[in-house]
Amino acid sequence: AKAAGRGTYCLFESQMDETARERTVMERELREALAYGRFELHYQPLVDLDKNRIKGVEALVRWRHPERGLISPGVFIPLAEETGLIVPLGDWVLNQACRDAATLPDDISVAVNVSALQLRNRNFAQGVLMALAASGLKATRLELEITESVLLDDTESNLETLHTLRRLGVRISMDDFGTGYSSISYLRRFPFDKIKIDRSFVRDSVGRSDAGAIIRAIVGLGTSLGITTLVEGVETEAQLATVRAEGAQEIQGYLFSPPRPLNEISEMLYLAKT
Ligand code: C2E
Ligand code: CA
Ligand code: CA
Ligand code: CA
Repeated sequence: AKAAGRGTYCLFESQMDETARERTVMERELREALAYGRFELHYQPLVDLDKNRIKGVEALVRWRHPERGLISPGVFIPLAEETGLIVPLGDWVLNQACRDAATLPDDISVAVNVSALQLRNRNFAQGVLMALAASGLKATRLELEITESVLLDDTESNLETLHTLRRLGVRISMDDFGTGYSSISYLRRFPFDKIKIDRSFVRDSVGRSDAGAIIRAIVGLGTSLGITTLVEGVETEAQLATVRAEGAQEIQGYLFSPPRPLNEISEMLYLAKT
């Protein structure tokens, strides 16, 4: 038993080593990818249900790895956040997204995800202004998406930064609404322009007797506060029907379109115009 125990321990230890080693390798590769420009942005439409038209797109980053192909952000964003690399990466995303959006029809806005570490940076608002100026994109065409975890720490100065940006015309969305503990209390503390209802609510809504009850409640909350509501992760016609019935204004999801490269999104948008 003793020997087996030791064996187990050694195996566990070597797995720990392996995980730590992979982390170190990925961190080095992330730095290289930044230096060599190996990130790209894909764009997913945000659709107005009333007018049945694309209102904007969300920029979603991907990593073009020389051996492993396209890596999704779920794999590398957490490490980028832990290592602080999210700050230069987020800055690249912001600048690229503004440049790309400036090539799209001027009634299309672009939504960019912002991490806590970026917002905490004292120069964040300045960086946003510089990205707008360099691209020529109007502030009113930029939306910043933040999750409530972004507001958890250092809240006062974060709120101040958001107020500054909002006064300049940038719109602020609360992402993944309903997944944290205090989503609702943040709505009281900051005048968000949009609530993005997390896709877990639409996923769990169809085929239940209380189908849509939570979505309905959040939409009602948004309506009474004058905040647009969008439902994320709409994949089926049945889900779309639920979302419509509950009165949400916008949707995003595979049913309409997955995230796509800029040229494909651009084609979709300009085709719709002619
Ligand atoms: P998110 O901000 O909640 O973005 C929505 C995610 O849901 C995207 O995953 C999108 O591809 C996916 N999605 C959209 N429609 C559907 C659907 O109908 N069904 C399902 N199952 N999924 C759908 P993606 O691109 O893998 O991004 C994952 C997360 O990575 C994002 O979640 C966001 O938190 C983070 N992320 C992506 N790009 C950036 C970035 O530039 N900066 C930061 N800080 N985070 C980013
Ligand atoms: Ca988002
Ligand atoms: Ca989200
Ligand atoms: Ca999310």
